[in-house]
Amino acid sequence: MTDMSYVDGNMLDGPLRELFAVDLSPATSRCQSCGSLGPLAGLHVFSHAPGLVARCPVCSEVILRLVRAPDRAWLDLRGATFLEVPMPAEPTYHRPG
Ligand SMILES: [Zn+2]
Repeated sequence: MTDMSYVDGNMLDGPLRELFAVDLSPATSRCQSCGSLGPLAGLHVFSHAPGLVARCPVCSEVILRLVRAPDRAWLDLRGATFLEVPMPAEPTYHRPG
């Protein structure tokens, strides 16, 4: 591969939104290789591979791969120690009197 150009991780928002019901744009991940913690938006995304390949901006190791076929998708997160997703507080229910 000679073309090393990439776009930032903001472009993952649409494709990941198709898989998950929550907004992952504010999510953070920890790189399994170098341990750096950062937002998905900070990943370097290579979109000219088969599918999307998101690499760590610090060590360039692969954090995430997403391949979409017409009727299914494959998500490979083995390069991330974890994915931290901000969630709304659990709803509180008010019981009548
Ligand atoms: Zn890394």
